[in-house]
Amino acid sequence: MRQKIVAGNWKMNNDLEAGKKLALEVLEKSTGSEKAQIVLGTPYIHLTAVAADVAGKNGIEIAAQNCSDKASGAYTGEISASMVKSTGANYVILGHSERREYFSESNELLAAKVDIALENGLTPIFCCGEPLEIREAGTMYEFVKEQLTESLFHLSAEDFAKITIAYEPIWAIGTGKTASSEQAQEMHKELRDHLASKFGQEAADACPILYGGSCKPGNAKELFSQADVDGGLIGGASLNADDFLAIVNAF
Ligand code: PGA
Repeated sequence: MRQKIVAGNWKMNNDLEAGKKLALEVLEKSTGSEKAQIVLGTPYIHLTAVAADVAGKNGIEIAAQNCSDKASGAYTGEISASMVKSTGANYVILGHSERREYFSESNELLAAKVDIALENGLTPIFCCGEPLEIREAGTMYEFVKEQLTESLFHLSAEDFAKITIAYEPIWAIGTGKTASSEQAQEMHKELRDHLASKFGQEAADACPILYGGSCKPGNAKELFSQADVDGGLIGGASLNADDFLAIVNAF
């Protein structure tokens, strides 16, 4: 059985006090026997405090939302994978569509970020997904498979085993317009087959593929009931502890 994961992506929301409060609320309202691994993807500046308060408690894990592709040095304003790891975070969200779009992150750059995250013991939650025009043109499978090919297919089998993938159709992110469970399942199955063509069926079957994009308490159960949907990457609904935990337990 694949690991089920529900990861919150807080994006650029909440100052430090509010972020700590949200994390503590998730801890207080969780039981430790949730149906999925809980991951909180906080802004960089929250990582240390939130990790100190909740990491490892009730099995909660912490994620950064990005890291540099460089190890260290004169890169003003950047945060390295080793710095992220030193806060107590064990995960890093990489290649979110907002990073690809607003910060020009290419598949090639993301391949380097995946490598450095793995070298530093972080589990990448590697995001992929197509824009609306690609969906409408019907070439979404090719588009998303290419994202995986160019950023992940250089990995060794050993490293690939540490990867979690999040499929997030861009037209569904923050729009209230979720992919149907059939659309999610079809894409997840295509991606798993693609991963199997490179890493073998067993490795592909072990890789968690999360869905993201307007996932809410009201639609999570239907999405998570699909054979190849192993959890979610949750934006807006992760900013409310009750909503987030309802999604965590929607399996
Ligand atoms: P959303 O965001 O749940 O607010 O649509 C998902 C994401 O961007 O990870």
